[in-house]
Amino acid sequence: MTTETKDCFTIDGKLALPYQYFAGSTGSRFIISLREEKKITGLKCNKCNKVFVPPRSTCEVCFEDISDNWVELPNTGTVTGFTIVRYEEPHQPLKPPYITALVKLDGADTPFAHIVKGIPFSKMKTGLRVEAVFAKKTTATIMDIDHFRPVTQRPGFELGYTYDQLEEGMSASFTKTISETDVYLFAGISGDFNPMHLNEEFAKATPLGTRIAHGALPQSLIAPVLGMKLPGLGTIALEVTTRFKAPTYFGDTITATGEIVEKLPERRWVRMALTFTNQHNKLVAEGSALVMPPVPMDKE
Ligand SMILES: [Zn+2]
Repeated sequence: MTTETKDCFTIDGKLALPYQYFAGSTGSRFIISLREEKKITGLKCNKCNKVFVPPRSTCEVCFEDISDNWVELPNTGTVTGFTIVRYEEPHQPLKPPYITALVKLDGADTPFAHIVKGIPFSKMKTGLRVEAVFAKKTTATIMDIDHFRPVTQRPGFELGYTYDQLEEGMSASFTKTISETDVYLFAGISGDFNPMHLNEEFAKATPLGTRIAHGALPQSLIAPVLGMKLPGLGTIALEVTTRFKAPTYFGDTITATGEIVEKLPERRWVRMALTFTNQHNKLVAEGSALVMPPVPMDKE
Protein backbone atom coordinates (compact mmCIF):
# COMPACT_ATOMS: atom_id res chain seq x y z
CA MET A 1 0.00 0.00 0.00
CA THR A 2 1.32 3.47 -0.83
CA THR A 3 0.43 6.73 0.84
CA GLU A 4 0.70 9.73 -1.39
CA THR A 5 1.71 12.98 0.22
CA LYS A 6 -1.29 14.79 -1.23
CA ASP A 7 -3.47 12.66 1.06
CA CYS A 8 -1.85 14.03 4.20
CA PHE A 9 -4.74 14.91 6.50
CA THR A 10 -4.67 17.41 9.35
CA ILE A 11 -7.36 17.09 11.95
CA ASP A 12 -7.81 19.93 14.44
CA GLY A 13 -8.55 18.88 17.98
CA LYS A 14 -8.47 20.22 21.51
CA LEU A 15 -7.42 18.57 24.73
CA ALA A 16 -8.61 19.73 28.13
CA LEU A 17 -6.01 18.91 30.72
CA PRO A 18 -7.12 19.69 34.26
CA TYR A 19 -4.24 19.25 36.65
CA GLN A 20 -3.03 20.08 40.14
CA TYR A 21 0.40 20.72 41.48
CA PHE A 22 1.88 21.38 44.89
CA ALA A 23 2.98 24.98 45.18
CA GLY A 24 5.96 23.88 47.27
CA SER A 25 7.22 25.49 50.45
CA THR A 26 8.42 28.63 48.66
CA GLY A 27 5.26 29.09 46.59
CA SER A 28 3.07 28.33 49.61
CA ARG A 29 4.70 30.99 51.74
CA PHE A 30 4.28 33.50 48.89
CA ILE A 31 0.55 32.69 48.72
CA ILE A 32 0.10 32.79 52.50
CA SER A 33 1.55 36.33 52.62
CA LEU A 34 -0.89 37.35 49.89
CA ARG A 35 -3.82 35.71 51.63
CA GLU A 36 -3.14 36.67 55.28
CA GLU A 37 -1.41 40.03 54.97
CA LYS A 38 -2.11 41.22 51.43
CA LYS A 39 1.61 41.56 50.97
CA ILE A 40 3.70 40.63 47.96
CA THR A 41 6.93 38.94 48.96
CA GLY A 42 10.03 37.80 47.11
CA LEU A 43 13.35 36.12 47.76
CA LYS A 44 16.58 38.03 47.60
CA CYS A 45 20.06 36.81 46.83
CA ASN A 46 22.50 38.65 49.06
CA LYS A 47 25.40 37.60 46.87
CA CYS A 48 24.23 39.24 43.63
CA ASN A 49 21.48 41.45 45.09
CA LYS A 50 18.79 40.07 42.78
CA VAL A 51 15.21 39.98 44.04
CA PHE A 52 12.96 37.28 42.59
CA VAL A 53 9.19 37.75 42.38
CA PRO A 54 7.58 35.24 42.16
CA PRO A 55 10.05 33.83 44.68
CA ARG A 56 12.68 31.28 43.66
CA SER A 57 14.45 29.26 46.37
CA THR A 58 17.67 29.15 44.33
CA CYS A 59 19.25 32.23 42.76
CA GLU A 60 19.05 31.89 38.99
CA VAL A 61 22.28 33.81 38.58
CA CYS A 62 24.71 32.31 41.12
CA PHE A 63 22.77 29.20 42.24
CA GLU A 64 22.95 30.26 45.89
CA ASP A 65 20.27 28.82 48.19
CA ILE A 66 18.21 31.88 49.10
CA SER A 67 15.08 30.14 50.40
CA ASP A 68 15.16 31.93 53.78
CA ASN A 69 15.89 35.45 52.64
CA TRP A 70 12.35 36.82 52.27
CA VAL A 71 11.77 40.47 51.44
CA GLU A 72 8.56 42.46 51.17
CA LEU A 73 7.82 44.28 47.93
CA PRO A 74 5.62 47.35 47.39
CA ASN A 75 2.35 47.00 45.46
CA THR A 76 3.64 49.16 42.64
CA GLY A 77 5.61 48.25 39.56
CA THR A 78 6.22 48.78 35.88
CA VAL A 79 4.82 46.92 32.87
CA THR A 80 7.70 45.37 30.91
CA GLY A 81 5.57 43.64 28.28
CA PHE A 82 1.94 42.95 27.51
CA THR A 83 -0.51 41.42 25.11
CA ILE A 84 -4.23 41.76 24.52
CA VAL A 85 -5.94 38.39 24.78
CA ARG A 86 -8.78 38.14 22.28
CA TYR A 87 -9.38 34.38 21.95
CA GLU A 88 -11.55 32.55 24.43
CA GLU A 89 -10.59 29.37 26.28
CA PRO A 90 -12.30 27.80 29.29
CA HIS A 91 -9.29 28.12 31.62
CA GLN A 92 -9.00 31.90 31.37
CA PRO A 93 -9.47 34.05 34.47
CA LEU A 94 -11.52 36.63 32.54
CA LYS A 95 -13.73 36.86 29.50
CA PRO A 96 -11.67 38.21 26.57
CA PRO A 97 -10.66 40.72 25.47
CA TYR A 98 -8.37 41.64 28.35
CA ILE A 99 -4.78 42.72 28.92
CA THR A 100 -2.24 40.32 30.32
CA ALA A 101 1.07 41.91 31.22
CA LEU A 102 4.47 41.29 32.71
CA VAL A 103 4.78 43.47 35.80
CA LYS A 104 8.13 44.12 37.43
CA LEU A 105 7.48 45.29 40.97
CA ASP A 106 9.56 48.16 42.31
CA GLY A 107 12.63 46.58 43.85
CA ALA A 108 12.25 43.27 42.01
CA ASP A 109 14.51 42.04 39.22
CA THR A 110 12.08 39.61 37.61
CA PRO A 111 8.64 40.35 36.19
CA PHE A 112 5.57 38.22 36.68
CA ALA A 113 2.45 37.81 34.59
CA HIS A 114 -0.87 39.28 35.67
CA ILE A 115 -3.90 41.15 34.40
CA VAL A 116 -4.08 44.91 33.86
CA LYS A 117 -7.45 46.66 33.99
CA GLY A 118 -8.57 50.27 33.98
CA ILE A 119 -6.85 51.46 30.80
CA PRO A 120 -8.08 51.50 27.17
CA PHE A 121 -6.23 48.99 24.99
CA SER A 122 -5.05 51.85 22.75
CA LYS A 123 -3.32 53.53 25.70
CA MET A 124 -1.66 50.38 27.04
CA LYS A 125 2.12 50.53 26.80
CA THR A 126 5.29 49.09 28.25
CA GLY A 127 6.68 51.34 30.93
CA LEU A 128 3.19 51.94 32.36
CA ARG A 129 3.23 52.38 36.13
CA VAL A 130 0.75 50.05 37.82
CA GLU A 131 -0.36 49.04 41.29
CA ALA A 132 -1.85 45.82 42.62
CA VAL A 133 -5.53 45.71 43.51
CA PHE A 134 -6.24 42.90 45.96
CA ALA A 135 -9.29 40.67 45.60
CA LYS A 136 -12.07 41.14 48.13
CA LYS A 137 -12.30 37.39 48.64
CA THR A 138 -9.27 35.18 48.89
CA THR A 139 -8.86 32.12 46.69
CA ALA A 140 -5.38 31.33 48.04
CA THR A 141 -3.93 31.70 44.55
CA ILE A 142 -2.09 34.41 42.65
CA MET A 143 -5.61 35.74 41.95
CA ASP A 144 -5.63 37.13 45.50
CA ILE A 145 -4.20 40.01 43.52
CA ASP A 146 -7.33 40.67 41.48
CA HIS A 147 -5.53 42.78 38.89
CA PHE A 148 -3.12 45.65 38.39
CA ARG A 149 -4.33 49.12 37.49
CA PRO A 150 -2.50 52.24 36.29
CA VAL A 151 -1.05 54.35 39.08
CA THR A 152 -2.73 57.74 39.10
CA GLN A 153 -0.18 60.09 40.52
CA ARG A 154 -2.47 63.08 40.38
CA PRO A 155 -6.06 61.84 40.59
CA GLY A 156 -8.34 63.51 38.08
CA PHE A 157 -5.58 64.68 35.77
CA GLU A 158 -4.61 62.80 32.69
CA LEU A 159 -1.73 63.91 30.54
CA GLY A 160 -2.50 64.81 26.93
CA TYR A 161 -1.37 63.03 23.78
CA THR A 162 2.25 61.91 23.74
CA TYR A 163 4.43 62.33 20.67
CA ASP A 164 3.75 58.74 19.60
CA GLN A 165 -0.02 59.17 19.88
CA LEU A 166 -0.13 62.32 17.77
CA GLU A 167 -0.79 62.14 14.05
CA GLU A 168 -0.72 64.73 11.33
CA GLY A 169 -4.22 66.05 10.70
CA MET A 170 -5.41 65.84 14.30
CA SER A 171 -7.01 69.14 15.36
CA ALA A 172 -8.80 70.77 18.29
CA SER A 173 -10.53 74.10 18.91
CA PHE A 174 -11.61 76.45 21.65
CA THR A 175 -14.38 79.03 21.21
CA LYS A 176 -15.16 82.12 23.26
CA THR A 177 -17.17 85.31 22.87
CA ILE A 178 -15.04 88.38 23.54
CA SER A 179 -16.92 90.74 25.84
CA GLU A 180 -16.18 94.28 26.98
CA THR A 181 -15.21 92.79 30.36
CA ASP A 182 -12.61 90.58 28.69
CA VAL A 183 -11.09 93.65 27.00
CA TYR A 184 -10.95 95.59 30.28
CA LEU A 185 -9.38 92.67 32.10
CA PHE A 186 -6.87 92.24 29.30
CA ALA A 187 -6.02 95.96 29.49
CA GLY A 188 -5.27 95.47 33.18
CA ILE A 189 -3.18 92.35 32.58
CA SER A 190 -1.15 93.80 29.72
CA GLY A 191 -1.07 97.45 30.80
CA ASP A 192 -2.34 98.39 27.36
CA PHE A 193 -4.96 101.08 28.10
CA ASN A 194 -4.97 102.35 24.52
CA PRO A 195 -8.27 104.27 24.04
CA MET A 196 -8.73 102.28 20.83
CA HIS A 197 -9.79 99.43 23.16
CA LEU A 198 -11.43 101.39 26.00
CA ASN A 199 -12.91 104.66 24.74
CA GLU A 200 -15.79 104.38 22.28
CA GLU A 201 -15.84 108.14 21.45
CA PHE A 202 -12.15 108.04 20.60
CA ALA A 203 -12.60 104.87 18.51
CA LYS A 204 -15.51 106.42 16.58
CA ALA A 205 -13.08 108.94 15.12
CA THR A 206 -10.77 106.21 13.75
CA PRO A 207 -11.15 104.31 10.43
CA LEU A 208 -12.58 101.26 12.27
CA GLY A 209 -15.34 103.41 13.79
CA THR A 210 -15.68 101.47 17.04
CA ARG A 211 -13.58 99.85 19.77
CA ILE A 212 -11.71 96.64 19.02
CA ALA A 213 -10.16 94.00 21.28
CA HIS A 214 -6.41 93.87 21.83
CA GLY A 215 -4.87 91.79 19.04
CA ALA A 216 -3.27 89.42 21.52
CA LEU A 217 -6.59 88.72 23.26
CA PRO A 218 -8.22 86.48 20.63
CA GLN A 219 -4.81 84.98 19.88
CA SER A 220 -4.39 83.97 23.51
CA LEU A 221 -7.33 81.58 23.01
CA ILE A 222 -4.90 79.09 21.45
CA ALA A 223 -3.43 78.49 24.91
CA PRO A 224 -6.33 76.32 26.13
CA VAL A 225 -6.11 74.33 22.88
CA LEU A 226 -2.40 73.55 23.19
CA GLY A 227 -2.30 73.17 26.95
CA MET A 228 -5.59 71.41 27.62
CA LYS A 229 -6.74 69.71 24.41
CA LEU A 230 -4.11 69.05 21.75
CA PRO A 231 -1.61 67.80 22.70
CA GLY A 232 -3.14 68.60 26.13
CA LEU A 233 -2.00 68.62 29.75
CA GLY A 234 1.76 68.51 30.10
CA THR A 235 2.46 70.25 26.78
CA ILE A 236 5.22 72.84 26.65
CA ALA A 237 4.83 75.54 24.00
CA LEU A 238 8.21 76.42 22.51
CA GLU A 239 7.20 78.95 19.87
CA VAL A 240 3.94 80.60 18.82
CA THR A 241 3.82 83.02 15.90
CA THR A 242 0.71 84.77 14.63
CA ARG A 243 -0.22 87.25 11.94
CA PHE A 244 -3.13 89.67 12.36
CA LYS A 245 -5.66 89.43 9.55
CA ALA A 246 -8.76 91.31 10.77
CA PRO A 247 -9.93 93.16 13.88
CA THR A 248 -11.96 91.53 16.65
CA TYR A 249 -14.92 93.62 17.75
CA PHE A 250 -16.67 93.48 21.10
CA GLY A 251 -19.15 90.63 21.05
CA ASP A 252 -17.30 88.64 18.38
CA THR A 253 -17.09 84.89 18.94
CA ILE A 254 -13.60 83.62 18.20
CA THR A 255 -12.64 80.03 17.48
CA ALA A 256 -8.96 79.18 17.89
CA THR A 257 -7.93 75.96 16.15
CA GLY A 258 -4.68 74.05 16.22
CA GLU A 259 -3.85 71.28 13.75
CA ILE A 260 -0.85 68.94 13.79
CA VAL A 261 0.99 69.51 10.51
CA GLU A 262 4.43 68.03 11.14
CA LYS A 263 6.11 65.61 13.50
CA LEU A 264 9.78 66.25 14.20
CA PRO A 265 11.15 62.83 15.17
CA GLU A 266 14.62 63.99 16.23
CA ARG A 267 13.39 66.23 19.03
CA ARG A 268 9.98 64.54 19.38
CA TRP A 269 8.28 67.93 18.93
CA VAL A 270 5.32 68.73 16.72
CA ARG A 271 4.51 71.72 14.55
CA MET A 272 0.94 72.96 14.47
CA ALA A 273 -0.93 75.31 12.14
CA LEU A 274 -3.09 77.84 13.99
CA THR A 275 -6.20 79.60 12.76
CA PHE A 276 -8.44 82.13 14.50
CA THR A 277 -11.84 82.74 12.96
CA ASN A 278 -14.85 84.79 14.03
CA GLN A 279 -18.57 83.95 13.94
CA HIS A 280 -18.68 84.87 10.22
CA ASN A 281 -15.92 82.34 9.55
CA LYS A 282 -13.61 85.24 8.73
CA LEU A 283 -9.94 84.69 9.50
CA VAL A 284 -8.86 87.18 12.19
CA ALA A 285 -5.40 85.68 12.64
CA GLU A 286 -3.27 82.73 11.59
CA GLY A 287 0.06 81.33 12.58
CA SER A 288 2.00 78.34 13.74
CA ALA A 289 3.22 76.76 16.96
CA LEU A 290 6.05 74.46 17.92
CA VAL A 291 5.28 72.38 20.98
CA MET A 292 6.77 69.60 23.07
CA PRO A 293 4.00 67.09 23.79
CA PRO A 294 3.71 65.62 27.29
CA VAL A 295 6.34 63.04 28.17
CA PRO A 296 5.05 60.33 30.52
CA MET A 297 6.72 60.87 33.87
CA ASP A 298 6.92 57.14 34.53
CA LYS A 299 9.40 56.76 31.69
CA GLU A 300 12.64 55.26 32.95
ZN1 LIG B 1 22.73 35.19 43.33
